Amino acid sequence: MKIVGSAIAALADFVLDAVFPANIYCIGCGAVIDKSHPYSLCGRCLSHFHFASDRTCLKCGKLLEEGYQHSICRDCRTFEREFERGYTCMLYGLYEKEMIRAFKYKDRCYYAYYLGELMYDRIAPIFEEEIRADIVVPVPLHRKKLAKRGYNQAELLAQEVAARLFLPEKKALIRTVNTKPMSRLSGIERRENLQGAFAVPPQYISEIKQKCILLIDDIFTSGSTADACARTLKSAGASAVVLLSLAAGGNSGARDGDEL
Ligand SMILES: [Zn+2]
Ligand SMILES: [Zn+2]
Repeated sequence: MKIVGSAIAALADFVLDAVFPANIYCIGCGAVIDKSHPYSLCGRCLSHFHFASDRTCLKCGKLLEEGYQHSICRDCRTFEREFERGYTCMLYGLYEKEMIRAFKYKDRCYYAYYLGELMYDRIAPIFEEEIRADIVVPVPLHRKKLAKRGYNQAELLAQEVAARLFLPEKKALIRTVNTKPMSRLSGIERRENLQGAFAVPPQYISEIKQKCILLIDDIFTSGSTADACARTLKSAGASAVVLLSLAAGGNSGARDGDEL
């Protein structure tokens, strides 16, 4: 019986290995790694990635540049934020960008498991003490983009984070306008481009009323998308919005999650 049992266990391992190939490939560079690596990232990628540290903007969570004197970033000093507080996990830099692009555009949906874990680890130590949330809501994709891409990467991340926080994940936001690419637009133009671009479907109005929302996106740059989402949620009755992004860009040509 023992032999049969161990044969079944070995078969189960084999099947799991086949279903979760990221267990043997680094999700950053594709190098073969063993399963003990955190977030399925090899040592090289872990050392190249810039993870968020103490030097982050106290409002949006973006990593602050070396030598920057203030505790609030330039964007947050320019625009009034619609969300209460933002957090991010890493810089949207060269190495990080490669991984996130593969996750978004090359059907690497299974990255969500590891990246969701990374996002959860970012806020778990401060959850309930510094921030709280009742519901997790992803930044939505317009249905046309969703049909083209097949999945919304922010939604996959939101599901992973919500499961770990034991909170419900709700698609309480929809994108009503298929906005134009915003990479060449200024901060103010981006904001105008997003006017009225989001809505809360009627069936979610009662669910978000007086609730604190944890808004999830993959990339945060100017913050115009997060602001538009937070404004929409709060005008529909949410009491507060906290943002958690996977990566945040500085002035290095990075763009908001929907703009690539
Ligand atoms: Zn790697
Ligand atoms: Zn900021």
